[in-house]
Amino acid sequence: MEMTCPDARVLVPAYLDGELSEARSSLLRKHLLDCHSCRTGAQDGKNLKRWFSAAREHAEAAPLATPSGFAARVARRAFAGDRGQLAPLAATSLEIEAVERERASDSTRKEGKLLRFVLAATAVAAAVALLLALAGGLKGRDVGSSMSADDRALPPAKQVIEELERLNAQGAGAQQPTGGQAAGGQ
Ligand SMILES: [Zn+2]
Repeated sequence: MEMTCPDARVLVPAYLDGELSEARSSLLRKHLLDCHSCRTGAQDGKNLKRWFSAAREHAEAAPLATPSGFAARVARRAFAGDRGQLAPLAATSLEIEAVERERASDSTRKEGKLLRFVLAATAVAAAVALLLALAGGLKGRDVGSSMSADDRALPPAKQVIEELERLNAQGAGAQQPTGGQAAGGQ
């Protein structure tokens, strides 16, 4: 008895799931061999089924799957951003370019931040020096020389902090007559 196309199509999903009896499976296979349109439909179903099971397996294996290489790129970028001088390993030239570009803009941001900090610290140092001058701890000329730091290249933050600490120490010992000697720079 020949299987009809509607019968075959109804049975195809169960056949793909392996749920048909051997007798029905062989009838269906026979129909699929003879009938091109049902065969095509079954193949589509097979592809779909394969796609679904692959997607399901993938979702189970990696629920939060990211594009391949994404984590490596992020790690490389963070590494390059943090260390600056280390070249990314095994990256394509495009990736290197992207990393370099990002690193450049990142360091520009950092320099901007540092510059703002240095300016703020310099302003604080100048204010402290001015206060000390008003308190009579320093001569006017010394304040002028410390202000002239603006004409030179901005000092590194560490130097500014050291200067602040020196000024604080001077402030603590402002009553001592030897207050002017710090400006001499032993
Ligand atoms: Zn058919």
